[in-house]
Amino acid sequence: MGDKKRKLELLKKNLESKSGKLPLIKKPTDVIFGEGNPDAEIMFIGEAGGYWEAKLRRPFVGNAGKLLDQLIKSIGLRRDEVYISNVVKTRPPNNRDPLFEEIEAFRPYLDQEIQIIKPKIIVTLGRFSMAKFLPGEYISQIHGQKRNIDFGGRKYIVIPMYHPAAALRNAKIMKELKEDFQKISKLVASQ
Ligand code: URA
Repeated sequence: MGDKKRKLELLKKNLESKSGKLPLIKKPTDVIFGEGNPDAEIMFIGEAGGYWEAKLRRPFVGNAGKLLDQLIKSIGLRRDEVYISNVVKTRPPNNRDPLFEEIEAFRPYLDQEIQIIKPKIIVTLGRFSMAKFLPGEYISQIHGQKRNIDFGGRKYIVIPMYHPAAALRNAKIMKELKEDFQKISKLVASQ
């Protein structure tokens, strides 16, 4: 097993072992950890799991996930070539927005995930994930724009994007999200 894969497995086990000590995690199977290629150049970060994610214990496998799969395909990549994760590594009750203290509690795990994978490009999906890297910004104003950031002593390119679930509810957002995705392939090609 590769070093990154082993580190990710350990991190997942560590998170599962915190059952009863982290918000919303009552048992190890409540954890929805990230998945994908540990050597991915692109990492997608969403918000939190929903119904299907909690059932299958995998990120982005419901309707929003199906759209994300299509978008990934539209730029010539497969889902297993990228890495997909969430800010909150479980499902909030009734799919409500994550609370500040929940985001904070899961922060060290997401930070470590990023530091293990070391992607070149981080695509944030939705405002909670965007706020981690670009606090105080509005997604409607900066979606699709590339930003260079320092995170944990390393440089990353962050591209904030609308959440696929928002695109499923709004045709204009869908159009913009599809256009923003095309910018990823240009960026990867220019790297
Ligand atoms: N929405 C998210 O933000 N993450 C998932 O994993 C699924 C839906």
